[in-house]
Amino acid sequence: MRYPFLDLADVNRPYMSELKAAAARVIDSGRYIGGEECSRFEASLAAMTGTEFAIGVSNGLDALRLILASYLCMGRLHQGDQIIVPANTYIASILAITSLGLDARLVDPDPVTSNLCGDAVKEALTPQTRAIMTVHLYGRPAIDKQLTDLVREHNLLLIEDNAQAIGAAAHTAGINGSRKTGALGHAAAFSFYPTKNTGALGDAGAVTTSDAELAHTVRALANYGSDIRYHNIFRGFNCRMDPMQAALLNVKLPHVSEENNLRRELAAIYASQINNPLLRLPSDEPGHIYHQYVIHTSRRAELMDYLTANSVGHDIHYPVPAHLQPCYSNRWSAPGQQHATDIEGYLIYDRLPVTEKLAATCLSLPISRSTSPEDAKEIATILNRFEPD
Ligand SMILES: *Cc1c(COP(=O)(O)O)cnc(C)c1O
Repeated sequence: MRYPFLDLADVNRPYMSELKAAAARVIDSGRYIGGEECSRFEASLAAMTGTEFAIGVSNGLDALRLILASYLCMGRLHQGDQIIVPANTYIASILAITSLGLDARLVDPDPVTSNLCGDAVKEALTPQTRAIMTVHLYGRPAIDKQLTDLVREHNLLLIEDNAQAIGAAAHTAGINGSRKTGALGHAAAFSFYPTKNTGALGDAGAVTTSDAELAHTVRALANYGSDIRYHNIFRGFNCRMDPMQAALLNVKLPHVSEENNLRRELAAIYASQINNPLLRLPSDEPGHIYHQYVIHTSRRAELMDYLTANSVGHDIHYPVPAHLQPCYSNRWSAPGQQHATDIEGYLIYDRLPVTEKLAATCLSLPISRSTSPEDAKEIATILNRFEPD
């Protein structure tokens, strides 16, 4: 592939020698759980996010689960409570909710931003709603004034799925200028899965919050429910971040903005140079960090063949929304076959029409260190020549 979608060795190349030194430091230290690398990681993440606490955990899904499980322990959530979540997210957001006996209320996003918006949340609110999980999908901050007003008026919990948006910032009115995602609500989950903008070299995640009780509960739950050694206050899990991943992330955390800016530069090239009327480009905003650069087209199957023929890597985030996955086939009433329409080989059931249409038309272009600015210009030229019969 002349223009690879993503090559993680390219992404980590600028940090290779420091990463190897950090790994060697951990191996030599004889300390393989907890310790100084973990505390340093947590202090850096809290400082860069603007929260009082950060807790390093095993991965992003566990970070979400630990937040919800902690609220259950604290009596802030109860079994069966309803949590509003956008339907067009990576399935992990929804798995976290349903795995804990909570009720995921799936909401269609705004068709232009692909993000949850206050209008849709307002319509979806019921007396059982206790929390909103907003997802900063593709690195775009998913928050607006109406949403934060609803949180306050209805005394809801606002949980951020910040897996795709480390270092993004919200400039929305009513949020006091610019604030980092991860500090916009009551608690946030981060993922350092290797393909994220700042990735570990394995699985890792984190929770941020400025709520001391929540931080204490998350930390205990992630460590067998233990607050002090051999004293278990909760029926917990083992979801800790290990010092190897913490040490590797300590190398990469100082470069979060640099990595995000690199993606913003590539996005700006695409935005200024792609002008094919068959393609809808993502709308920009200042705090967007482009975890993915997602375009939409009703000619996706043809475009994918064309890109492959022109050696341009691409991917789909995500082809099948959670409510149409087999694991949820008896959860959100199986859609009636007779209402299904076929777009490019994907069935649209009209159950969550915006989500289903976005899933059937989205395509992610290369946007990482594997792609140079020159590559991005050439990819734009290739896209502009796309002209199916
Ligand atoms: C990656 C991701 C997660 C899960 O993170 P893992 O570290 O892979 O468990 C959750 N939500 C979203 C939106 C993600 O993109």
